[in-house]
Amino acid sequence: MKIYNLMEELVENKVNKLYDDLKAANTVWLTCDCENCRLDTMAFVLNRIPPKYIISSRGITHTAADTNLTQIKADIDTLAIEGIRLVSSSKRPTHNVKSAPEALYISGSKPFFFFPTFTGTVMDGLTFEPISDSKITLLRDGKPADMIDHTWLNPTQTFKSTKGTYSFCVKPEEAKEEKQDGHFQFTVQIEAEGYEPTSYAFSIPVTSEILRQNRGLSLYSLKLQDLFMFPIGTENPME
Ligand SMILES: [Zn+2]
Repeated sequence: MKIYNLMEELVENKVNKLYDDLKAANTVWLTCDCENCRLDTMAFVLNRIPPKYIISSRGITHTAADTNLTQIKADIDTLAIEGIRLVSSSKRPTHNVKSAPEALYISGSKPFFFFPTFTGTVMDGLTFEPISDSKITLLRDGKPADMIDHTWLNPTQTFKSTKGTYSFCVKPEEAKEEKQDGHFQFTVQIEAEGYEPTSYAFSIPVTSEILRQNRGLSLYSLKLQDLFMFPIGTENPME
């Protein structure tokens, strides 16, 4: 009998599938998909979800009926894509990748407005199924917002394996002083083939801070409300 964390297998399968999908789609920000990068991503995800232990001799089969896994699977999808982006962008001696972006924000001790990572989901408003292959643009003052580094895309897209989830990491903005309160407005624009385009405006308050050497960039994420798209020619019951 052995104790076994059920999440390990779920995460391993999901991360490998995502890497394979992203590679097959020639995703530009995917800098590497070697075994080490995959393992780093799996650790990133496993460190952020609660473990679920089972006794191995009782088998994995009955866990398939565990309906409580639906939410955790959605979380794994979101975290896995975040982890892949992070691993793709991080500085590694064996990988020929540009230095991590936080160095820029630590040097000079200047205050910046650091934005959370925005995440959201695009769904069909009639079936509530996630929409893959939608194009999502994050606008700021009518223009696509700058991303923190070249590994983030704007516009970005949704993938089948991420169940309609997308994320953005906006470039920090220089502030005049520390602890300055700012209010920032963004608009998410979504297009998908066969659907009426839609958009969603939101604003967030951010307090400027000086990134200390010992802290590193925070990766907290802000979950935006689910966005629904309606097939062209159907009535939108929400309007
Ligand atoms: Zn690698």
